[in-house]
Amino acid sequence: SAFSAIGEGREVDQNDYTPELEPQATWCPGCGDFGVLKALKGAAQELGKSPEEMLLTTGIGCSGKLNSYFDSYGFHTIHGRSLPVARAAKLANPGVEVIAAGGDGDGYGIGGNHFMHTARENHDMTYIVFNNEIFGLTKGQTSPTSPKGHKSKTQPHGSAKEPLRPLSLSLTSGSSYIARTAAVNPNQAKEIIVEAMEHDGFAHIDFLTQCPTWNKDARQYVPYIDVNESDDYDFDPTDRREAADMMAETEQALHEGKVLTGRFYVDNDRPSYGEEKRAIGEMPEEPLAERYFDDSYEWE
Ligand code: SF4
Repeated sequence: SAFSAIGEGREVDQNDYTPELEPQATWCPGCGDFGVLKALKGAAQELGKSPEEMLLTTGIGCSGKLNSYFDSYGFHTIHGRSLPVARAAKLANPGVEVIAAGGDGDGYGIGGNHFMHTARENHDMTYIVFNNEIFGLTKGQTSPTSPKGHKSKTQPHGSAKEPLRPLSLSLTSGSSYIARTAAVNPNQAKEIIVEAMEHDGFAHIDFLTQCPTWNKDARQYVPYIDVNESDDYDFDPTDRREAADMMAETEQALHEGKVLTGRFYVDNDRPSYGEEKRAIGEMPEEPLAERYFDDSYEWE
């Protein structure tokens, strides 16, 4: 495609992803978001993706500042809307490596509808949700993943709500790759982002990111356990039923303070939405984006 031809084959260095301008709105010291940035840079470098080959769409929240720290094509969208923008970009230009990002409030709350339907349609992209179990940027309000009993300015007596279970929701909605990692484990996080970027379909990563500023009494997400490595867990991530059971156990464990991470579901057989649309002739084989650069193309 016009996009991928620009950077293809160029050797990349992690510094290539560092913008020349210092971010004006910065993350707090100790924030787990730095772990996402480090893992994303490592993954992009390992796959040899140059900044010109990548599009990063973000929502609103501390997670949305990722665009300021990571130099690629970018689109800082409105609250909860990183996925629709990412979907359109990927459909128009399948050659671009699309990463969508947002927080738990942004992605599971305000943009929850988009999350379900992007998963259902299996759009080819990596979706990283910075899950710190609160709204960080707006000063620590209760979010969809806050544990029951969690006290905040919006729930001063403690939340009376059961938290949303993002892994299970992702599976029921239709994601074809589902993983959870944590900022305290950048090596596992990098490996998971590499797999997600290589996956043809909707790859959802629930990324546990500590917020030391507003979620002080809560977790640092340590010690974590990798369910794919530990002898205590035996399940097949390609088996939907076994994956569902493992997710239910994992989400209950997090509520009890035990951090389980790893790959929970992998389906490499299901075609992505773009592939489906091309197969039925609803979209042309060549990237739509090329038509915008082609002055001789006659629109019908
Ligand atoms: Fe990170 Fe929390 Fe600071 Fe936001 S408020 S940058 S989530 S530590």
